[in-house]
Amino acid sequence: MPTYEYRCGHCGPFELQRAMGEAPQHHDCPGCHTPVRRAISAPHVNRFPEALAREITRAERSQDEPEVVTSLPPPTGRRASTGGSNVPPRPVPPPPRR
Ligand SMILES: [Zn+2]
Repeated sequence: MPTYEYRCGHCGPFELQRAMGEAPQHHDCPGCHTPVRRAISAPHVNRFPEALAREITRAERSQDEPEVVTSLPPPTGRRASTGGSNVPPRPVPPPPRR
């Protein structure tokens, strides 16, 4: 639910949660009960941190238009895990002589 901001000249800003499009243009200040005009600002539809919102947007977009990988990712200096073992595989024995 979006949060709408009002700014009382006496008490400062306060916020009101209303359904989208149902916030009144004026609302009584909870402090001094003076009708206060709604501040012109974008409603805070979400309050996620910007990085999190960006990742969620990217994840949702990947459902319809996944990002195409055109090159290898940069090397990180670590090899991909092969199962947790550092023991190299045994060499294949030579074929038996005849
Ligand atoms: Zn007030």
